[in-house]
Amino acid sequence: MIRFENVMKRYSAKDRPALDGVSLEIERGEFVFVVGASGSGKSTLMSLITHEQVASSGEILVAGRELRRLPNRKVPALRREIGTVFQDFRLLPGKTVEQNVAFALQVLGRPRHVVKQLVPETLELVGLEGKEKRLPHELSGGEQQRVAIARAVVKKPAILLADEPTGNLDPTISREIVSVLERINRTGTTLVVATHDNGIVDTFRKRVIELDEGRVVRDQARGGYAQSA
Ligand code: ADP
Ligand code: MG
Repeated sequence: MIRFENVMKRYSAKDRPALDGVSLEIERGEFVFVVGASGSGKSTLMSLITHEQVASSGEILVAGRELRRLPNRKVPALRREIGTVFQDFRLLPGKTVEQNVAFALQVLGRPRHVVKQLVPETLELVGLEGKEKRLPHELSGGEQQRVAIARAVVKKPAILLADEPTGNLDPTISREIVSVLERINRTGTTLVVATHDNGIVDTFRKRVIELDEGRVVRDQARGGYAQSA
């Protein structure tokens, strides 16, 4: 589903590369934590997958597409295959829960009957039944993140990328959010979760890819956060 072959990403000639010789393969349906200190390259890895950033060298394959050769006109189709979730939720403040989620389909031009079916089933999937008419400021942080997840997955992407999705949440709520991501993974979606939250990494025991200064220093099935765990 995602393959990096010797990928280097340099933002400027004078700084060390943000990613340096990264090779990895993530299969369809996997759940992977990408861990590492701040500045180790986690967000850069995510932005290369969405093609918001372009590799300086090396090959990247996402959902069957070679990104180095991807023409601009095919970028929207790539992005439809990928849902994204961030630490800061990024909801539309003036729209209700259901409007925030529906909007993700409306911008893709999906017909109304499709929106009417997909929005409620997706809100149920993330555990937001009964909150449809709330505005973002009327929700807890954990609930806001559930809305952001619903918005990311309502278009049924093959891949869901979550960049520090629990960064603003306390430990109990963080575990609930990762459980929601697990539920989405069980529907067949490939999950890539960048985090430096060792609590959730140790709790959920998924594959762990660790970055250090832009290099993969560990790739472990069912790992914990710490190298020694
Ligand atoms: P992480 O998400 O693990 O904190 P990042 O991928 O954000 O790491 O950053 C990796 C390195 O790349 C850091 O040295 C950071 O300063 C640099 N970097 C990230 N984004 C940019 C950017 N848009 N322009 C210049 N440098 C960047
Ligand atoms: Mg980051």
